[in-house]
Amino acid sequence: MKRKIIQINKDACVGCGVCADTCHQSTIEIVDGKAVVMHEAACDGIGNCLPVCPVGAISFSEKDIIEDQVVTDDTTVTVSVL
Ligand code: SF4
Repeated sequence: MKRKIIQINKDACVGCGVCADTCHQSTIEIVDGKAVVMHEAACDGIGNCLPVCPVGAISFSEKDIIEDQVVTDDTTVTVSVL
């Protein structure tokens, strides 16, 4: 299934970390001074991080994602695999 997630232009990123603070899924981290989407499948595609980036380094892209459900003792977790 294709769905919208964010992509980060590493050349433009200045590593301020504002996007990581804004991400509801806590899936953006600063690695070696640049923002990285650690788990692309966790991106909700809402894009709260886009308007906060001071250099416009974040945009949307479309990727194929396969989603499966993993059931543990008391929790059902949806896992997305790219
Ligand atoms: S808000 Fe923009 S410049 Fe700041 S870390 Fe995120 S992508 Fe990089």
